[in-house]
Amino acid sequence: MTVVVRTRADLRAVLADVPRPVGLVPTMGWLHDGHTSLIERARAESATVVVSIFVNPRQFGESTDFTGYPRSEARDLAVCEAAGVDLVFVPSVDEIYPPGFDTTVTVGAIAGPLEGAARPGHFQGVATVVAILFALVGADRAYFGAKDAQQVRVIRRMALDLALPTEVVALPTVREADGLAMSSRNARLSTDARAAAPVVHRALDAARARYAAGERSAEALRAAMRDVLVGASLAEVDYVSVADDATLDELDVVDRPALLSLAVRFGDVRLIDNEPLP
Ligand code: AMP
Repeated sequence: MTVVVRTRADLRAVLADVPRPVGLVPTMGWLHDGHTSLIERARAESATVVVSIFVNPRQFGESTDFTGYPRSEARDLAVCEAAGVDLVFVPSVDEIYPPGFDTTVTVGAIAGPLEGAARPGHFQGVATVVAILFALVGADRAYFGAKDAQQVRVIRRMALDLALPTEVVALPTVREADGLAMSSRNARLSTDARAAAPVVHRALDAARARYAAGERSAEALRAAMRDVLVGASLAEVDYVSVADDATLDELDVVDRPALLSLAVRFGDVRLIDNEPLP
């Protein structure tokens, strides 16, 4: 039986005497198999599983992305029920940011490049809401997807620096059969854009193939990704990156663990994906 709570107070009350360990899966809803993979791992490792569903206005730049973000509480609750979630926290914006709210968590260098550069303020918004969720839930572990690779690094940094007691667990990206990384935003792709979107993952595959064949020039690998994307219909490249896996600083030579990542627009839907090297 899945319990739904909507306020900070109710959440604390319900969590006061649940069995531990508690596993938290923070989401923005419109749940798909990527989210379910996190919930399943949490279920396997926790006595109590909490899923939060909150489309966090503070992490959105473009208001059309926020207002157009797909939402269906009934659909999400059915997914949570089926996955054996104990508690779903569905707060309003005012419940998370009550009147007078005036604190922001700012993460440093790791939040600077890539998504941080493309979406100013995004990671402050993410770090702030995740800090609130960690504090409210007091989870032993929280589960995040490697699809949002920089987000995982930002949250790990924050948890370490602020001595937050929640362990951050990252799990692999779940993909559609054609390679497209599952994302709630995929629901907003037009039919033509959905057909074109697997090119994002093919670009990563192309760079990985070049790397496997011995290429170590980061610029050559970026070019391999761009070459695949240039020819694709509807795809507008935001960035392609070959970066140090730990710092996310761009590399010249891939002589250490690296992260291939990219952001591509299809109309007003912006998709991101990544793969590690090697
Ligand atoms: P979101 O609802 O998009 O904010 O995502 C909530 C959590 O699910 C984040 O930790 C995401 O990284 C993770 N997630 C989203 N898509 C996927 C996916 N395709 N595979 C694995 N995890 C994912």
